[in-house]
Amino acid sequence: MNWRESARCRDTDPELFFPIGSGSSFPALAQADEARAVCGRCPVARQCLEWALDAPVEGIWGGTTEAERRTLRRRRA
Ligand code: SF4
Repeated sequence: MNWRESARCRDTDPELFFPIGSGSSFPALAQADEARAVCGRCPVARQCLEWALDAPVEGIWGGTTEAERRTLRRRRA
């Protein structure tokens, strides 16, 4: 079974995971926190994060922002 079939975000508006505006603005931070809360209840968050680390994608994946994934990639290198 593909991990995406168990994704908690399947029933969530996809736009939630792509905060609009500057990453440091309040609306963007609040939206990111809301998306992270969904990821925090997701049974496939680990698989999602691993996928996102291998595929440079924008938005919130595996409970992380793009900037956080860049940091994780650097630490792994
Ligand atoms: S970790 Fe977040 S973005 Fe990834 S599948 Fe789960 S809910 Fe969706």
